[in-house]
Amino acid sequence: MKRSTSSIAALCLAVTFFCGGCATVATNTSHTFDTVVVDAGHGGKDSGAWRRHGPPEKVVALDVALRVDRKLRESQLHTVLTRANDVFIPLDGRVALGNEQKNSIFVSIHFNDARRRGVEGVETYYYSPYAFELATRIERNLSTLPGTVNRGVHTARFRVLRNAQYPSVLVECGYLSNRAEARDAADAEYREKLADKIAEAIVDYRYGDGVYQRQPAFLARAGGGGGSFLPSFR
Ligand SMILES: [Zn+2]
Repeated sequence: MKRSTSSIAALCLAVTFFCGGCATVATNTSHTFDTVVVDAGHGGKDSGAWRRHGPPEKVVALDVALRVDRKLRESQLHTVLTRANDVFIPLDGRVALGNEQKNSIFVSIHFNDARRRGVEGVETYYYSPYAFELATRIERNLSTLPGTVNRGVHTARFRVLRNAQYPSVLVECGYLSNRAEARDAADAEYREKLADKIAEAIVDYRYGDGVYQRQPAFLARAGGGGGSFLPSFR
């Protein structure tokens, strides 16, 4: 769906009016951005989704974020990581860091959790209408991974979306509460694929379809000296 500029402006006006100024309406950098703020969800004392066997959300989200970061830099985009190691950063700190980067977009990487173990799939969230197309592209790209369930693109009032000055998208890369997706998340090769799909969506959105060049996969393995990347967890 292609929205006209005037309908976006009307929507922004409506959002501003009904929120009474409680939310920042993003500046539209969706077609000009040269910087991507890559946000690995959780960290430090905040583990995010947790499972008895295998790494918690904060660990796998960081690994995917580092891989996305590397791929975007290889595609000549400037990047800023909200965290590059296992440290707790409050949500407002993440938003503030993102808002400091002029002409940027913000992409937050997470894994999901549900009470029912059967729930599975990838989801993408946005708040500003300027982030809708990027959210859609990331969701569509991730859904091309074999066996991946497309759970759709949704609006949400998450703080990293709502208070972002620039277009901001939150990606849920699968459910750690689902046995198959948790197994995938624990696999470095699969995390590399997730990162590839996310980076491709961002680069092609900015520069045009087919511009993204897939670099040889970097697969950290246990004991392999994988830099800041994590091995597979088996
Ligand atoms: Zn999360």
